[in-house]
Amino acid sequence: MKLKDIYNQKKTPVISYEVFPPKDDTDGQKLENLFEELTKLLVFKPSLISVTYGAGGSNRNESVEIIKRIKEELKVTPMPHFTCVSTSTKNISEYLKTIESFEVKNILALRGDMPKEGNVCHDFKHADELVQYIKDNTNLSVAIAGYPEGHKECESFEKDLYYLKQKADKGADVIYTQMFFNTEHYFSFVEKCRKLKITQPIIPGILPVSSYNQILKMADMCKVEIPSKMKETLEKHQEDKDYTKKYGIEYASQQCNELLKNDVKGLHFYTLNKSHAVSEILKNIL
Ligand code: FAD
Repeated sequence: MKLKDIYNQKKTPVISYEVFPPKDDTDGQKLENLFEELTKLLVFKPSLISVTYGAGGSNRNESVEIIKRIKEELKVTPMPHFTCVSTSTKNISEYLKTIESFEVKNILALRGDMPKEGNVCHDFKHADELVQYIKDNTNLSVAIAGYPEGHKECESFEKDLYYLKQKADKGADVIYTQMFFNTEHYFSFVEKCRKLKITQPIIPGILPVSSYNQILKMADMCKVEIPSKMKETLEKHQEDKDYTKKYGIEYASQQCNELLKNDVKGLHFYTLNKSHAVSEILKNIL
């Protein structure tokens, strides 16, 4: 099913999950674990499962294998992510042909993080050029990334929105957001996008917190605010893993309820390849 049809369904919220190809998986056990976890999440009838793509294209093959299995074994619509920053037009063209040959219908088009050194290919400078290329050369439906608190490199929030509009206008069907912990940032972002006539569904990305140190690192890397009360609570209980996980589930459930009250079309869960937290959240909110 194409993204447009998925988000035009009457039944809402549309549930989707993000997973990543397991690292250092020489015996393939981590991949099997991932499929066990995803199987547990099928009960919530996801409409889409997206698979991240490593910087530099290092895990292209694993990503393609996972996409095939999501489609064939789980019978769920897969969506590969694809980054263009370190890849030539020729490689991009080959990759797109490969996934279309598996009857993949959707793709999340990204620039990717700039590598610290070497391996930058200048064929595509920003994601909007990749969106244009995909629209011109394939039948794929295209999703793009949006940043409720602004992208970490942007000179100003307004400039970032201007570029988002440019990227959306090249033919994107859906926008998936970066995680956020202050839900007001999402609402304000959507309002500003609508003023700029960005009309695509803007699907919030939800990350259930499971570790204080991990969330500090991720928030810092992505320049995302951790509200002070949340930070205090997580810091105080950082040694208590069970408490932290329970708190993360409660916090994300509250966020989802607030979003649903405001008629979001879907919820996109950053699963980190685990089912428990997402499963508990979905039991709380559906
Ligand atoms: P762009 O849209 O190109 O934006 C990058 C920066 O450039 C922004 O600051 C923007 O304001 C600016 N900009 C945009 N267009 C122009 C222009 N024409 N001229 C000048 N400046 C411009 N990374 C991975 O490596 N693999 C993944 O699988 C992955 N999945 C992701 C999924 C989601 C939902 C999100 C939100 C992010 C994901 N990322 C992933 C991270 C992403 O690759 C990084 O945030 C990257 O730095 C930006 O990618 P982009 O597609 O948003 O870039």
